Amino acid sequence: RETQFIKELETRIQEYDPSLHVKDQLFDDLPISPNTLRGLKEAAFLKMTDIQKKSIPISLKNNDILASAKTGSGKTLAFLIPVLEKLYREKWTEFDGLGALIISPTRELAMQIYEVLVKIGKYHSFSAGLVIGGKDVKFELERMSRINILVGTPGRILQHMDQAVGLNVLNLQMLVLDEADRCLDMGFQKTLDAIVSNLPPSRQTLLFSATISQSISNLARLSLADYKIVGDDNEQ
Ligand code: ADP
Ligand code: MG
Repeated sequence: RETQFIKELETRIQEYDPSLHVKDQLFDDLPISPNTLRGLKEAAFLKMTDIQKKSIPISLKNNDILASAKTGSGKTLAFLIPVLEKLYREKWTEFDGLGALIISPTRELAMQIYEVLVKIGKYHSFSAGLVIGGKDVKFELERMSRINILVGTPGRILQHMDQAVGLNVLNLQMLVLDEADRCLDMGFQKTLDAIVSNLPPSRQTLLFSATISQSISNLARLSLADYKIVGDDNEQ
């Protein structure tokens, strides 16, 4: 029955034409799982913000995106919902390993993302992990192989990849680069390039940034494939 539901969901996603849904304001209007909807409702997220409305339907269709929207516009849910939904549709389990990797420039931002993920992902059975500086790597390694969604800072994630034990990215379905402009400002270009070069090319990538610059476009060219541009400066 779940398989049938997922099939119907996939059809609804493919048929979702934003021009026919201009009046849609609610998360309830989206072709997403009851699990995510319930998590959103309990956290009192009912109405989509502009960037959520513009980007989520595109991300659900498995497109790579380069999304820009100013700070405070709700970018976190704009990528967390597609992450949860992708793994839900793939019927991801703990035996499938790492399905999604979310990279954020600072410990504080990574922690915030992790907290929102745990909250809205409450009715899914995925395991989530947080890797930021300051914690014992050995302790993290024990659990690393069972984590489905990993949130972390660039240096810490690369460190785990270089260790080659525990963090297996071969099955990765989704990469999210959050606050990409800040990542570059903080000097993480090379670290991001190294992380991306380790990932399977078949993955979906969502790149979020408050601003778009030449260096962001360069990063997009390196890390995205056939991407759609959505956001503030690209009203459609
Ligand atoms: P950004 O990453 O774009 O700076 P955030 O994702 O951190 O923005 O969201 C900013 C604030 O808006 C947070 O407090 C978040 O809980 C709130 N928020 C995000 N989306 C919604 C929504 N759809 N409805 C109500 N509040 C929201
Ligand atoms: Mg943010």
